[in-house]
Amino acid sequence: MHELPAVEDMIRALDEESESRGISKIKEVHLVIGELSSYVGECVQMYFDILSEGHSCENAKLYFTHTKARFKCRDCGHEFDHGVDFVCPLCKGEGRLIKGTGKEFLIRKLVYDDTVS
Ligand SMILES: [Zn+2]
Repeated sequence: MHELPAVEDMIRALDEESESRGISKIKEVHLVIGELSSYVGECVQMYFDILSEGHSCENAKLYFTHTKARFKCRDCGHEFDHGVDFVCPLCKGEGRLIKGTGKEFLIRKLVYDDTVS
């Protein structure tokens, strides 16, 4: 359920973006979702299908890129993607979560339909 306000914000941002560019139709929306963000692609899609009606992004196709949380080793400082555990692949030391990573919910790219004016 928590995807609802995020999708509302997203559609508002898409409307502003397409308006400022003078574009009436958005064809593709590419999103980045971090694995720790707790947003589920299917839920985003579901709300998007309902809420985008009548907006510039109506019927746009959503693409999701999932990003991993990043960890930094306490012993050697090596940074690595979250795998099956938090153990440093170099020295087997304990990794600590790098703040903010894996929590992204971003619009990465938009594709406009320029066949509609
Ligand atoms: Zn290490």
